[in-house]
Amino acid sequence: MTLTELNIEQLIDLCKANNQQAQLEVYNRYFKAMYNTSLRIVKDLIKAKIKPIKNEKSLEDFYINRFGEELYKTFFKDYTKKVWGLSCKDLSADWGRQRVKSLDIRSIIWHSIKKLIYSTGTYGSKAQRSLIEKFLYPAKGPGMMWDKVEEKCLENGVQIIKQAWVNHIGLKSNSAYKVSYVKDDATHEIKCSALISTMPLKHLIRSLSPSAPKHVRSISDKLQYRDFIIVGLSFTKLKFKEERNEFIKDNWLYIQDKGVKIGRLQVFNNWSPHMVNGDHCWIGAEYFCSKGDSIWNLDQKEMIR
Ligand SMILES: Cc1cc2nc3c(=O)[nH]c(=O)nc-3n(C[C@H](O)[C@H](O)[C@H](O)COP(=O)(O)OP(=O)(O)OC[C@H]3O[C@@H](n4cnc5c(N)ncnc54)[C@H](O)[C@@H]3O)c2cc1C
Repeated sequence: MTLTELNIEQLIDLCKANNQQAQLEVYNRYFKAMYNTSLRIVKDLIKAKIKPIKNEKSLEDFYINRFGEELYKTFFKDYTKKVWGLSCKDLSADWGRQRVKSLDIRSIIWHSIKKLIYSTGTYGSKAQRSLIEKFLYPAKGPGMMWDKVEEKCLENGVQIIKQAWVNHIGLKSNSAYKVSYVKDDATHEIKCSALISTMPLKHLIRSLSPSAPKHVRSISDKLQYRDFIIVGLSFTKLKFKEERNEFIKDNWLYIQDKGVKIGRLQVFNNWSPHMVNGDHCWIGAEYFCSKGDSIWNLDQKEMIR
């Protein structure tokens, strides 16, 4: 059998045994595959520009019109399903307009060219949000911002009650005037002159007393929420670091492949070295899920496995 007749697993076995011809064959196949994929990307991009989908309705239409079908399938189709648990066909194009805004292939290419010339990342309020590469980050994570908010509130005489569950918000003339909450199994009530809520909209609407109109409740009850599990992994050794003698530079690695459940990896060292002990590498494996589904129900041992 010649090398060209072997399947990829057989070729990889030969590569492991240091067969250089097999390595060249893998390279040739990879090159051919990438060449064909690039051709499809260009062809689909031209098609999207010449003949865009009229009347964009779904997020799928939105992405195809901006990136072409091949790039949509490679980067957005399965990843969106992983993150939000819904197909791009079932999400509205407005979702894309709000989250991705003006990002399209032209702005990505232009961004890459500028980066080659100026060798600095995009920074500041003028940058397209999805292309920002530099940002300010609290040394020990965003929780520090809330510690500061707490400190400022206490300085100004604001009372903070923690571990409390709001169950009723009393309304008078369309304004909140009292809040009742449960803490340590006891119900308490406080009066308020203004209320700012950061609890999920569904819970907020359910807490209103008197109740919100029926049609408002029926819409809010249908709101779907997505949940998220992060598995922290601490490494003392990284194989690729030893081989290349450099540390990975990314904060996030997106995993589009639908064959694996993991959606994204975070490298905490790159958010801020102050969050990590010594020369350990802290990686966060992110799983997007919904309360009660098969990922959510995994116990700690199964999750680690
Ligand atoms: C799958 C997924 C991926 C995401 N990826 C990113 C990302 O990559 N980058 C990014 O910037 N954002 C991302 N987000 C969004 C980000 O997590 C949210 O925008 C952010 O957490 C919202 O913060 P919040 O304070 O408004 O709400 P939450 O973080 O939901 O906080 C609401 C709080 O209210 C509490 N609460 C609820 N009901 C009551 C009650 N009755 N009484 C008292 N307390 C109550 C809850 O316990 C909770 O602590 C992602 C979100 C999801 C679901």
